[in-house]
Amino acid sequence: MKIHHLRNATTLLTLGEHRLLIDPMLARPGAFTGFKFFGGGRRPNPLVPLPPDTFSWLEEATGVLVTHPHPDHLDTAGLRWIQKRQLPVWTSRKDAPSLRKRGLTVHELEDGALGMRVERIPVRHGRGLLAWLLGSVSGFYLAHPDEPSVFLTSDAVLTPELLEAVERLQPDVIIAPAGAANFGVGGDILFSVDELVTLVRRAPGRVVLNHLEALDHCPTTRDGLRERMKAEGLLEKVLVPGDGEALFFERPQREVRVRASTA
Ligand SMILES: [Zn+2]
Repeated sequence: MKIHHLRNATTLLTLGEHRLLIDPMLARPGAFTGFKFFGGGRRPNPLVPLPPDTFSWLEEATGVLVTHPHPDHLDTAGLRWIQKRQLPVWTSRKDAPSLRKRGLTVHELEDGALGMRVERIPVRHGRGLLAWLLGSVSGFYLAHPDEPSVFLTSDAVLTPELLEAVERLQPDVIIAPAGAANFGVGGDILFSVDELVTLVRRAPGRVVLNHLEALDHCPTTRDGLRERMKAEGLLEKVLVPGDGEALFFERPQREVRVRASTA
């Protein structure tokens, strides 16, 4: 498995024969409005460009996975790019109709899709009124037979249901958003750093942290996050890729139990 981090949540994920472009926000810097609506600090998004080689890397994509259709996960530039290549888009049953209306070829990402074990995990993008306004978001657990299993939490806060999914599915790798996004009013709409500490502690394997330093309402920095994880003794469990950085994971060798038999 290769996790090629591009920017924010946008990732090229290689799983066996599939090269899935996840949550494409492909706009140039400043192309759309800031999200820090209150409290100052609002700036046009995205804050940073994609790595210079992005569009040549994207040529290898075989499909697209959209966890939820917010503009930082599917923007106009991403939509046009997909339409031009006529690539299939995989998403939840709930989000499929709205993406079809936007002219995409959409498949529901359910168990058995792409030759993998798939489980959709409903997550909460904030709490209370904000969660209601932001709508439901789907996390996905993907287990390709030849690859480590991966749980994309997508945009989520920490809930007992999410921790239960981690406990039950035991994903080899978790990819989680770490920007601690906040509109400047109400609570965080992504994991707070404290919640990330809990998530990493409970994770059976490595946790890749993204959704950082690309949007005006995500104040957490990569350095700050590493420092905190170090202070918690968790630095070895986390990976905080820079934009354009690729991470490779081997399928862990499962323990083979040999039972002695006298028969
Ligand atoms: Zn987001």
